[in-house]
Amino acid sequence: MDIKNKNLLKNSCLINGQWRESAKSFEVINPYNQELIISVPDCGESETLEAIEAAHKSFESWKSQTAEKRSDILYAWYDLIMKNQEDLATILTTEQGKILAEARAEIAYGASYIKWFAEEARRIYGDTIPGKSQDERIIVIKQAVGPVASITPWNFPMAMIARKIAPALAAGCTAVIKPAEDTPLSALAMAYLAEQAGIPNGVLNVITTSDSSTVGKVLCADDRIKKLSFTGSTKVGKILMEQCSPTLKKLSMELGGNAPMIILDDADIDKAVSGTIASKFRNAGQTCVCANRIYVHESIYDTFIEKLENRIKKIKAGSGLESDSKIGPLINQAAVDKVTRLFEEAKSKGARVIIEPEVKEGLLMSAGMIADVTHDMDIAKEEIFGPLAAIYKFSTDEEMLKLANDTEFGLAAYFFGTDPKRIWHIAENLESGMVGINTGLISNVTAPFGGVKHSGFGREGSKYGIEEYIQIKYLNWNLS
Ligand code: ADP
Repeated sequence: MDIKNKNLLKNSCLINGQWRESAKSFEVINPYNQELIISVPDCGESETLEAIEAAHKSFESWKSQTAEKRSDILYAWYDLIMKNQEDLATILTTEQGKILAEARAEIAYGASYIKWFAEEARRIYGDTIPGKSQDERIIVIKQAVGPVASITPWNFPMAMIARKIAPALAAGCTAVIKPAEDTPLSALAMAYLAEQAGIPNGVLNVITTSDSSTVGKVLCADDRIKKLSFTGSTKVGKILMEQCSPTLKKLSMELGGNAPMIILDDADIDKAVSGTIASKFRNAGQTCVCANRIYVHESIYDTFIEKLENRIKKIKAGSGLESDSKIGPLINQAAVDKVTRLFEEAKSKGARVIIEPEVKEGLLMSAGMIADVTHDMDIAKEEIFGPLAAIYKFSTDEEMLKLANDTEFGLAAYFFGTDPKRIWHIAENLESGMVGINTGLISNVTAPFGGVKHSGFGREGSKYGIEEYIQIKYLNWNLS
């Protein structure tokens, strides 16, 4: 791999400040050419228990550091990440497949959470409350929740870790990270830089494994872990929630989405087309906030389709490392098979093929588009997670809101339009945690990211993000 800082490419995992290899390992494969990148330790129960013990033991001293000290260390980590941005982006593209421009943006985006929470570390304020009697003083203090476990997905191998670990460390929590088996290398590179930044031994541990179910069970069952932060599928989120119930862990669940993108008749169509492209095709359609269902008003339906088609035709699928590629490969064969299945099923039920998504060499899939999609098709219910745009027609706002909310998910929703009264009405009635109005890009550190319904709960980023990692204690001081 063409990187300057060779230390960033690890074949070992981090437990209690020790980089550990193991007898058993698993291969990390480049999704573009299916070549082996490197093998990493295949950890099991015993390594996970060691990592939990390390996080447990280091918690006392880490939470007792001054907020300023924790803040300084997070700033140092941020600086190191940005200094190594190009190498980290190369590692990310190689293991995950997304184009290099998006990988660079992900590193900067993830790093922005570390900087933000370096700032927030110093602003975890409590309250004083007027007492019930003259002799009573009531004081609220906020304390770190304890050691946390973070289980993260492959589609944002760096940013999902940053979004969880930065607030955790800022609040005084220690952590055990279990990255996705497809993309553990970004997590290990981040952990290496965290160590260089001065994060003490045991405060940050990374367990790599191909057996996520065993490691997950150990993390959920252990009472020393006080919180689980998970990003991934709704199916796995529900399993983990159940597994955490005996130990009553605090939970954050960022789960699946099925985002509607709505184009109203008074929308700026060119802006709507650009917003749709930005939302739909980021990471080759593999994000939980990608526009999954594109609803277009009947009066502009044909014009919108024509303009979108012209843009989609220009999207080149290729190696993420080549500068003219606009989308990279999908993560694995199952992802390719899923998009193909949804496309074929929709076609068989009457969807109109505007651009056929073609499976090219390996896991590369060209961008596709279908229209006249309806809610009896599987593609309306499932996350496509691939480069296929599905267009639906609507005629009234009432009908459109009903269709948009006709899903168990509620993560992101988008719409384009200009009438302020209508904008408020739609924004307030979309059942989702986040709404993009005249934009296809909604994720940034200043805003609370998270969902409702089966898309989960908990918020990442913004002033709300730190609350996921603190607990409230109230002191009742009787002066009599
Ligand atoms: P995706 O469909 O995005 O791969 P998953 O929910 O399968 O979503 O995976 C997200 C993360 O959850 C990954 O780190 C994966 O290894 C992990 N994971 C999958 N199944 C389990 C499980 N049974 N217990 C714990 N972690 C799991």
